[in-house]
Amino acid sequence: MHSPTAQKAKIIWLQGVTCNGNTHSFLNYEGFERFFQRYDLLYHPLFDTELGINDLSKFEENFDFLILEGAVTGNEEFKRGKTSFAKLFEKLAKKARYILAAGSCASYGGVFKEYDPENITGIVFDKESKRGIFKEYENKTVNIPGCPLHPEWLITVLDMLSIGKMPHLDEYLRPKELYAYLAHDGCIRNEYFEWKIDVKDFGYKEGCLYYEHGCRGPMTHASCNKILWNSVSSKTMAGMPCIGCTEPDFPKTELFETKKYMSIPAELPFGIPKRAYLTVTGITKAFKIDRLEKRLIDDSKRDN
Ligand code: SF4
Ligand code: SF4
Repeated sequence: MHSPTAQKAKIIWLQGVTCNGNTHSFLNYEGFERFFQRYDLLYHPLFDTELGINDLSKFEENFDFLILEGAVTGNEEFKRGKTSFAKLFEKLAKKARYILAAGSCASYGGVFKEYDPENITGIVFDKESKRGIFKEYENKTVNIPGCPLHPEWLITVLDMLSIGKMPHLDEYLRPKELYAYLAHDGCIRNEYFEWKIDVKDFGYKEGCLYYEHGCRGPMTHASCNKILWNSVSSKTMAGMPCIGCTEPDFPKTELFETKKYMSIPAELPFGIPKRAYLTVTGITKAFKIDRLEKRLIDDSKRDN
């Protein structure tokens, strides 16, 4: 338990090449009162913090967490305040106990990498390979990918580390406590997936989005359908396919369509051999389940 007199863990939140999306996601966090009881946010570009951006280059103390939002670049022209981002990151990275890569860009390069593939990477990773510009910090880095990341994922990692519990990390430095699941796990459309019934259109409540609409839930490590967004919903619940934003190869192109070879999806759910897929779907396709073909709520039958 965190007592009111216990020292708060110190956080510096730095931005690299970013759209601000993870900050916006963080602003939706529902437990700020508790967060500020436990953590001392020394610097954040949007919060009213003790330090300003130009204080960071003179900051000499050791601290607990460097949270990086956005991809990294070694380009000296890319500045934060009066200092180059690369120099500032390096200075703070040495002083931080842990570095948390908040979102897919800080983790693997993400969307911004597409614009300058040679000079933009994640901290440790460059997509799937450990060739990030700051790979020497691997031992203190935890990746929390997502575009954006879910604020609850960030707080879970902060809370674990601040009580001395290191998460179990997978090969891409993601905490297994949050990313061992697939986005598919817990999706309300699983019954439609099992019976191979696709949605009629985006936003429909009925049907699965895998067979025609490119849902990557069965190939994406994320707990989106277990830890809901704003405690309410998820992409696939709302009727939008998962686009695989927590994987190192994000972003992919040609989203929202399922590529197929001879009517079989080119990418099968993780770990499912083609033969098993064909056997199971062959059986389920042979049945027509009336209940699953009907609308759950049919507006056309409304009287008023
Ligand atoms: S919509 Fe996507 S996540 Fe949901 S059951 Fe279908 S494949 Fe799985
Ligand atoms: S459902 Fe998929 S695309 Fe959406 S946030 Fe989760 S992992 Fe990312």
